[in-house]
Amino acid sequence: MDTRTYPVTRTDAEWRARLTPEQYAVMRNHGTERPGSCALLYEKRAGTFSCVGCDQPLFESKLKFESGTGWPSFNDPVPGSVENTIDRSYGMVRTECHCARCGSHLGHVFEDGPPPTGLRYCINGVALKFEPAA
Ligand SMILES: [Zn+2]
Repeated sequence: MDTRTYPVTRTDAEWRARLTPEQYAVMRNHGTERPGSCALLYEKRAGTFSCVGCDQPLFESKLKFESGTGWPSFNDPVPGSVENTIDRSYGMVRTECHCARCGSHLGHVFEDGPPPTGLRYCINGVALKFEPAA
């Protein structure tokens, strides 16, 4: 289990009060939302996607792309906002990514994305909230 201390920490009861059951399952129990289930997948406006757990800006819409996977996908996070760990669950070796501020699970990173980074941050939309650019 992850024992790191993050700048934002909450008790389990606080997390359950802040998050919907689906958000809790994804962000605190490393769940995965059903592909195509999140409206943010279709969000095309300019703006910023922030962490539902702590409000930290995580992704900019200009680095979002349509990956065809059913999950919101990004080239690159806001610098310093996301941390990666190696995830060996389900018999696969994947790179897990989580919020650097509150430690909430966001999704996984794959190396089959488009330029410029070649990375694909495959993110659960429920972990994000979108704010259109002013
Ligand atoms: Zn967070």
